[in-house]
Amino acid sequence: MPLREYQARDSAESCERCLKGFERLESGSDEPLERCPHCGAPVARQLSAPAVGASRSGFDQRAKNAGFHQLKRVGKGEYEKRY
Ligand SMILES: [Zn+2]
Repeated sequence: MPLREYQARDSAESCERCLKGFERLESGSDEPLERCPHCGAPVARQLSAPAVGASRSGFDQRAKNAGFHQLKRVGKGEYEKRY
């Protein structure tokens, strides 16, 4: 049976468990989960096992979606807005 990974689509309404992502053993006939079984927040199936780089870019994406900005220091007292 394949082990599938799910993660919350929206961190604002997720519980701690789906925020981090969770795994579920599914048989081939099981429908993919649409909601977290713990809190009911919408979850998305992860297509591949997260690599270190992928999870980092996922974090950046989530931060961006949440309206955070990340500044990169480019010189003494100078910062470049990355997004
Ligand atoms: Zn949850």
